[in-house]
This record gives sequence, structure tokens and C-alpha cells, in this order.
Amino acid sequence: MSDAPIPEHPAVIAGKRVATDRWIDVLDPSDARTVARVARCGPAEVRAAVEAARHTHESVWRFTTPVERSRVCHRVAALLRERREELAALETLDTGKPLRQARADADVAARYFEFYAGAVEALGGETIQLRPDRPAFTLREPYGVCGHIIPWNYPLQIAARTLAPALAAGNCCVLKPAEDAPLTSLRLVEIAEEAGLPPGALNVVPGYGAEAGAALAAHPGLDRLAFTGSREVGEAVMTAAARSIVPVTLELGGKSPHLVFPDYDAALAVPQIVESITEHAGQNCSAGSRLLVHRSVHADLVDALVERFRALTIGPGAADPDMGPLISARQRERVLGHLAGGRRDAVLRTGGGVPEGETYTRGFFVEPTILDQVVPGQRVFEEEIFGPVLCVSVFDSLEEALALAEHTTYGLAAGVWTSDVTRAHWLAGRLRAGQVFVNNYSAAGGVELPFGGYRRSGIGVEKGLEALREYTRCKTVAIHAQLPS
Ligand code: NAD
Repeated sequence: MSDAPIPEHPAVIAGKRVATDRWIDVLDPSDARTVARVARCGPAEVRAAVEAARHTHESVWRFTTPVERSRVCHRVAALLRERREELAALETLDTGKPLRQARADADVAARYFEFYAGAVEALGGETIQLRPDRPAFTLREPYGVCGHIIPWNYPLQIAARTLAPALAAGNCCVLKPAEDAPLTSLRLVEIAEEAGLPPGALNVVPGYGAEAGAALAAHPGLDRLAFTGSREVGEAVMTAAARSIVPVTLELGGKSPHLVFPDYDAALAVPQIVESITEHAGQNCSAGSRLLVHRSVHADLVDALVERFRALTIGPGAADPDMGPLISARQRERVLGHLAGGRRDAVLRTGGGVPEGETYTRGFFVEPTILDQVVPGQRVFEEEIFGPVLCVSVFDSLEEALALAEHTTYGLAAGVWTSDVTRAHWLAGRLRAGQVFVNNYSAAGGVELPFGGYRRSGIGVEKGLEALREYTRCKTVAIHAQLPS
């Protein structure tokens, strides 16, 4: 065991490192070792961060041109690529995810900065032909100071997803990373400053949700809020935003279905169905956690999936297995609680508990699990599990498939597997989900694709050009162009 000192990471406010009296231990989910400590910020640090963001916005950032902001974002992207291995190792240490998934996260983070670096140069308003002597036009202006609260599952990717459009559009930001995985957010701000982002344009205040998170959401000095996380906390954040009357983006949970029809392509579908529920051990908001399958292909498909699930390697993320641990003991207890109910109500086909063996004794591992014959009304059908648990239900008709898919209060993503183009379009038009994928799932993450939930999966949109518009407000200017008589 190493006796090297545990690194301590202060908050970053106005470009300065700000230590706190109290610290939060950051654990490696693979073995529950403390690998770092981060500042435990509270209302005082949040206040200072919002003031710093306001100062930088008013004195510098709002007066920069799109091309200047674009250059900074391009440099951030280049540095993220250059530091890919370092960032991936840090993300794996912090979240437990397999190294190759963490590498992909670093690549996607770079893509966000690249995409918005390009997009902001093309951002503009529109002209409105009121009358020949009354030209009018709209401007897209930054809001000012944005608060961003993010979860622990894809910290680097989600930080980049929410910060890149906000910064490119000319806002200054305060980021509150999740207490369970704050390390890459703190590294990101260092990289952004190295890339030329002025001090105070991005401030990072790690801390607990009830302390730093609640203080940020309620801060009256914000002009906009973006929250990614659970539905329950989303409700609290939206309530706080209502008190300050600021717009809020909510990216919340999901219970996304795959709909598999008899004419599906098994070679295409099987690996993607497996990946969609086992990537980062199923701790993914748009995980394909429900499999709705036509009775005629049900047995063969589930057999094929069971075989794949049993072949998955499980281990510490640094060893780059197919699946790492869950984020924390608490998360593992939640998932095991769902599995206990699922074993009682449904048919367990594989997995169902903690893997056996020395490797799994200290970390937060759970087996990849398939529950079959799951029906509406059962808890595992209704609730987001946020673990590697695929719930299988059978249908006999297209209408029944749609009814099962729609039997949820969420609406984040859906996958349709069929060779029938009419059926695919019919479903794409009816499924209430922010993203519908046909014969693929998640389009390899595409940063260009707008992403936002229907129903209780959220409000507003991140990703794509839509997000750039979301981080700007619209001002109308009308000119009376009449010469004096
Ligand atoms: P969470 O809601 O518990 O925490 C998210 C963030 O909110 C953390 O930074 C946390 O510290 C903070 N927080 C907690 N209490 C707070 C409060 N009272 N006020 C302000 N902030 C507070 O969620 P989680 O457990 O970190 O993440 C899992 C959830 O996030 C799942 O439901 C998942 O589906 C969802 N998620 C959604 C997306 C998406 O893009 N739609 C992406 C990732 C995760």
C-alpha cells in the first residue's frame, strides 16, 4: 500500500486556489481507497465564485468577440486531446469506469469545445422586415453568469457539454461538480485557464449537494441555471430558480426502451443493446434499460444476451475490463435493493448480485443482470435503477410495443430495431422521447445532436446548435429610419 500523501484540491475561484476548513474524501470505487481530498465549499465560497464570474463577465468576457472566444475554446479542445491519457486515468480513478470509456469521455469533452468554438462564429440573430423605414433585427446575447450543477457518472463529458456552449456564447460560469467525482472538473478549469480563459470566467466549487449545490441554485446573482442529475434534486433546483426567476435547464433521469421487432438485425442489435446497459455499469441517464421484444424473437434474443452478459469481464476500471464498479456503496445498495425486488417479481436470467472473488470484496461491484418477464406495475419496470440491469418485457403487436414503451414518466431516449422503414417512421413520430434511434443506439454520442428529455426527464436542451441558443437570450432592436423633414 502506498504511503504517498493524499493530494488535496482546493476550489478554483477567480483563478485562485481557495482552500476550505473542511475537506471531502474522494474514493476509488474499485477498492474504496481515499485517493484525494477536495474542498468542501459552502455558501461563502459560492458567493465568492458568483461575484468572480460577474466581475469577469462585466469587465472582460462580455466584450470579447465570437472569434476570440472561439480561439480559446479551440485551445481548450487541443489541450484536452493532448492530456487525454492523464484525464482518462483521473476519470477512471474517480468514477471507476473502464479506461477506454474514460478515454472516449476525454475525446467527447474535446469535441464539445471544438463544436461550440466553430458554432459560435456562425451564431446570429435574424432581420425582421417590419416596414421599409423600420428595420428590425434580433441579437443573441449571453445571459451573464450561469450556474452549472453536474452528476458523477460522466463528469468530464457533462462538464464540457454544459460549459462549452455557455462560455462560447459569452457567459461566465460557476460549476458545482458531484461530491463523488469532482477531480476532472478541477483539472478542466486549470486546462481552460492555460488555454487563455480569463480568471473568473470559470469557477469550480466542489462540495456536497445540500451545501454548495443548494447555495448555488439559490444564489440570487445568477442569470441562468443548468442542472444534470436526479429528478428529486431537479425539482429542488427548479424551485430555487423560480424564486430568482431565472431560466433553468434540467437534464434528469430515464427508463429508456429498446423496441425489437421480428425483422431486426441481430448482429447489429445485440452488441449495442449490451453496451447500452453495461457502459459505465449502467450508470447512464440514457441507458437502454428496458428491452421490449416481440414474442416470436424473445427466446433467441434473450439467450444471446445472457451469453454476452456472462462473457463480460468485470474489474477495476484501470485494468480496462468491460465493466467496472458502481460509484459508491450507497449506489450499490440502491441497485441491490432493486435486484432483490426484481428477483422476487420477475425471472432472473443472469447476474443478480455481487460477483464472487477477491477482486470484488472492497469495491462497489454488481453483476450485469437480466430480468425477464418484467411487467408494468413492478418496481423494476417503473423506476430508474441506474445500474447494469436489463429488464425484458414481451409484446405481440406494434400497438402493444408502443404502449409498453410509453408506460413511463420518463422520456429521454428510445431504440427501434426493425428493417421496416414505415414502422420505424411511425414509431419515431409517436415515441415521446428526446432522442429516437433506429437500428442504432446513441449515434456514438454525437455532440451535434440536441439532447433533452420529454416529460419528467427534463426541460430544455443540451448539445447541438440548440444548446448555443439556450445559453443566449434574444434581444430585439427596431430602428426608425426616417430622415428629418
Ligand atoms: P443527484 O441529483 O443526486 O446529484 C446531482 C448533482 O446535484 C450533484 O452535484 C449533487 O451534489 C447536487 N445536489 C444534490 N442535492 C442538491 C441540492 N439540494 N441542491 C442543489 N444541488 C444538489 O444525481 P446523481 O446521483 O449525481 O446522478 C444520477 C442521476 O442523474 C440519475 O437520475 C441520472 O439519470 C441523472 N443524469 C441525467 C443526465 C442527463 O443528461 N439527462 C446525465 C447524467 C445523469
